Amino acid sequence: MSKTVQTEDSLEEVWKEVQRFLYREFPQDTELWLNEIKLHSTREDKKNTNKCFLFLSVPNEFYKEKFEERYQKAIQKFVRSHLNREIQLEILYDLEDSEPSNTEQVLQILQTNSSHPHIPKSIRKEPWKLGMDPKHLFQNFVMGSSNRVAYAAGLRITEALGLEYNPFFLYGGVGLGKTHLMQAIGNKVLKENSLLEISYITSEQFANEYILSLKKGLVHNFRLKYRNSDLLLVDDIQFLEGKTGIQEELFHTFNMLKNSEKQMVFTSDRPPKELKTIVDRLLSRFTSGLITEIKVPDLEMRKIILKKKMQKTNVQLSEGILQFLAERLINNVRFIEAGVLKLKSIQELLGTPITKAVVQEELKEIFEIQNYTSNPSIEEIQRIVSDYYKISYEEIRSKKRGGLQITKPRQVAIYLAKELTEKTNAEIGREFGKRNHSTILSSYKKIHQEQSHIESTQNDIQQLQKKLLKKESFLKPQKLRSKKH
Ligand code: ADP
Ligand code: MG
Repeated sequence: MSKTVQTEDSLEEVWKEVQRFLYREFPQDTELWLNEIKLHSTREDKKNTNKCFLFLSVPNEFYKEKFEERYQKAIQKFVRSHLNREIQLEILYDLEDSEPSNTEQVLQILQTNSSHPHIPKSIRKEPWKLGMDPKHLFQNFVMGSSNRVAYAAGLRITEALGLEYNPFFLYGGVGLGKTHLMQAIGNKVLKENSLLEISYITSEQFANEYILSLKKGLVHNFRLKYRNSDLLLVDDIQFLEGKTGIQEELFHTFNMLKNSEKQMVFTSDRPPKELKTIVDRLLSRFTSGLITEIKVPDLEMRKIILKKKMQKTNVQLSEGILQFLAERLINNVRFIEAGVLKLKSIQELLGTPITKAVVQEELKEIFEIQNYTSNPSIEEIQRIVSDYYKISYEEIRSKKRGGLQITKPRQVAIYLAKELTEKTNAEIGREFGKRNHSTILSSYKKIHQEQSHIESTQNDIQQLQKKLLKKESFLKPQKLRSKKH
């Protein structure tokens, strides 16, 4: 959440903000002074709703004097400008305990004062308060070829905030982990440094908040809040297209943060050059740091993601089903999560064993969203594969062995027939020049193995699977670009 404390927030929240301010501004006072100040009680002013009272307790009179002299004015100023409220501070101490500190006592505390002063946990901001999901962590994010650079850059950013990849611009199709990775950066920074100001916001919220602040005459607060961020995370900036007022505002925020070496991360569902109606000067800012794409995960990675999600949801599925799912839940990790959850409920509620037929039936809707309505027929596979390798349909079905330019496509077609249809080896054999079931099996094994070490085979299979599962027609142009061609 924000530094702008709304009236519905409790006064404890005001105190936490004040504490965060104090620990940030007076780090050298942490052990000796700040840790000794406790909140006693709070009160709203009945006549003036903007005003509030905080009653603080300190060990003795000496602390009270010090407090009034050192912090009082600074706190009032902070609360006025950042929280838009008036605050009255009352400092209490127990007369009985009120022996003024002697030099020895102070010295003792100073000596025990470590180089890493202990800052109370209670003032730490929780991820959910910042609008972030605490489960969006690096350790829950499966890294693979489609997101390796994005993952490494994200991690690096947390170690060199504002210094290296600034801004970090992350783009890619829906459900590929942009928000997850962005919040993983936020969550890690938050965990490691509870005093840093982190703002996570979607560009839509940013726009709405800006408009609201204009209406309420609180633009000043809006600006302070974002321009004071140590880490600004703006998700889905494609929503800024065509909104010039808010683009202008973000442009100025950007410049302020960039000049003071504060880290910024932006995500978008497409690359900067395709954000058509974003003013050039903002676009050039977006592109001045590191731009990275998250692509659609390949089959192997989808299997790992599936396994991870299965572990998390405590679902057991056979290797065969895993493969079946990974081949069909392709271009959005959210579909994988939804699929796993659905199968878990089937397993738990009905006790039904999960077979391919069950998966086909139960995940119908998810497959349909992806436009994988039915399994291709063997004929369809033969036509598409022969077309792809530029050989004839007759050649691929032929009894004759043929040269390598025929046998390889035939083996690929056999592999796909086994993967994508429910036919037995014998049935498949009949469609490929009456070959026997062991020939079918060895063709299948050969291609299966080749995929792990021959990139062109892996690529061919992926391309063909996409064609056969009618994926091309479903994908929007911008998502297609993210794949190897
Ligand atoms: P985006 O913001 O790109 O639309 P999200 O970050 O919201 O996508 O990801 C969608 C879902 O998929 C989230 O629940 C996220 O945790 C999960 N997810 C995406 N990529 C991965 C990954 N590589 N490893 C684990 N989970 C992932
Ligand atoms: Mg997102």
